[in-house]
Amino acid sequence: MTDPARSSVFRLCQEGYASVLPVRAVLVGEGPAVLKDSTGKELFRLEAEPAPTDAASGDRAALFSPGRLAPGCYFLEACGEKRKFEVTSDPWRSVTDALIKGFYFQRCGCALDRRYAGDYAHPACHTAPAVDWLDRSVSRRVTGGWHDAGDYGKYTGPGAVAAAHLLYAWLLFPEGCSGSLNIPESGSELPDLLSECAWELNWILQMQRSDGSFHHKLTKDHFAPFIMPQEDLDPEYLMPASHCATAAAAACLALAFRIYRAYDPAFANRMLLSAVHAWDWLQHHPDFVPFRNPEGVHTGVYGDGSDSDERFWAACELFAATGESRFREEAERLYAAGQQLTAFGWANVGGLGALCCLFVLKEKAGPVLFTELREKFLRQSEKPLSCARASGYGTALSPEQYGWGSVLPILSGAMAMMMNHLLTGRTDMLDAALDQWYYVLGMNALDLCFITGFGENTVCFPHHRPSGADGIDAPVPGLISGGPNKYASFPATRSRLGENTPPAKSFVDETFSADTNEIAVYWNSPAVFVAAFFTQLCVKNGAWTE
Ligand SMILES: [Zn+2]
Repeated sequence: MTDPARSSVFRLCQEGYASVLPVRAVLVGEGPAVLKDSTGKELFRLEAEPAPTDAASGDRAALFSPGRLAPGCYFLEACGEKRKFEVTSDPWRSVTDALIKGFYFQRCGCALDRRYAGDYAHPACHTAPAVDWLDRSVSRRVTGGWHDAGDYGKYTGPGAVAAAHLLYAWLLFPEGCSGSLNIPESGSELPDLLSECAWELNWILQMQRSDGSFHHKLTKDHFAPFIMPQEDLDPEYLMPASHCATAAAAACLALAFRIYRAYDPAFANRMLLSAVHAWDWLQHHPDFVPFRNPEGVHTGVYGDGSDSDERFWAACELFAATGESRFREEAERLYAAGQQLTAFGWANVGGLGALCCLFVLKEKAGPVLFTELREKFLRQSEKPLSCARASGYGTALSPEQYGWGSVLPILSGAMAMMMNHLLTGRTDMLDAALDQWYYVLGMNALDLCFITGFGENTVCFPHHRPSGADGIDAPVPGLISGGPNKYASFPATRSRLGENTPPAKSFVDETFSADTNEIAVYWNSPAVFVAAFFTQLCVKNGAWTE
């Protein structure tokens, strides 16, 4: 449980360390810090030089590493405090599996059965036909999908991005994310991660209109109160279509086509047809129109200033899926217009296009989308490394970047640095990426593990309707909190934080604090990508092979 009075001079990975990867931890305050093994033998000493003040937290934080340690039990000692940690060969398997299982708990349109959900079981939710917002005479059944976040809305673009993170985790690091999840499809031919992803892909397919475009979202006109999903009975609406939703869906479905065709060719072909249909709509509607909530609608906007990055990603994936030069030409044109190749969030998906070019298409992408893009990607991925180096905690975020869902840019930085490492073999990139994984597991200014159900000091009250309404003390496990937000503006969050709280500590572990402690599928998904990479490194004894 979170204890505000708790204080430790050490900040470390609360889920333990892997014997194939360096142990890294932070000392806050006075040294020296001493590392001892279980027999009391001193293995490492950090001398007492005072660390500079970390700008994001105000802490005198010293990041240190004794390197790799053999499996066993260890103790860190400083200032009269003794903190224990363990090193094992495969420490993060259960947290990786739980992060993927977190998506099962977000499933909509079905009951969560006790066999799979345990105490978190609930009856089916949101099963009534959805009404078209623009033409109320039209209604149809749209089933499945994941609840987006702390609310019960379902949003096409963010859902497509979350599914894509999972699919890329599977493509690149299958041994890191192939655990059995105990979901209804477990034991079928399809690996569990792909079964879970198919729950969302089947829903995305239903969000397409007959002209090829995709509805932006399926939500009510307002957010539900803190009730269980099966009690949320107000009508759901298919909201107007948008360019970004259409392009993101096209990209995700083209990516999924390549993965599912080995298991279920009919499903895969439906996804490719849908993606091409969406692409044709985009070609006939070249002028970007940003989505805005219709009058009277108060659910998430997920607005965006451009669809260039979504189109770029879609063109890359459609080229990978079909080999047709028209997609490569369009991808080259959009690349030349300028893309952020290290962005992996719902608003900017340039990094997903880069993933496709660098790790799927490779030389087949041609000199522009492989050779040139690789150079540009390597340059852009220096940014998270320099941010991490400037941070006392090794966190790849500058103080002013601690906004709503700060865990997303932190994990995006980890993804970019992992990709750099895979392309170049640079260990400084690997170590810095590892520090972001350690950040979510407790090596941060709050001494807090941001994943529910894990860590010694863990998030207990996420802004998540089922966790708040189910009458169970512990929150639904395997969900990652958005984390500190220096711009938090909700009055209850603000009054709890008070004045002058440093950015990296602007966090309130309370249900009301949506602006610091909400969960979201597209924050869980980059965590899965990062977790699968490091878990696969453990399985493969530190080596990464394609
Ligand atoms: Zn639902």
